[in-house]
Amino acid sequence: MNNYDDWKLDTPDNHVKQIYTCEQCVGAINLGDSFISTKDHYVVHDDCFDDFAWKHLGAKYKVAGDE
Ligand SMILES: [Zn+2]
Repeated sequence: MNNYDDWKLDTPDNHVKQIYTCEQCVGAINLGDSFISTKDHYVVHDDCFDDFAWKHLGAKYKVAGDE
């Protein structure tokens, strides 16, 4: 490959380096992205953490006396 092709084929995506995979959405967590890690060694996007926590903890809203 000559230098012209290197330049032409060089897209911003070539510089994205995936470091982790989000446990919740299975999306990429790339170099420089902020994320949340848990004590169980799960890694999730900031935006995915609420959904992850609800699912992982098996949490649900209840009303006292109405069960
Ligand atoms: Zn995610």
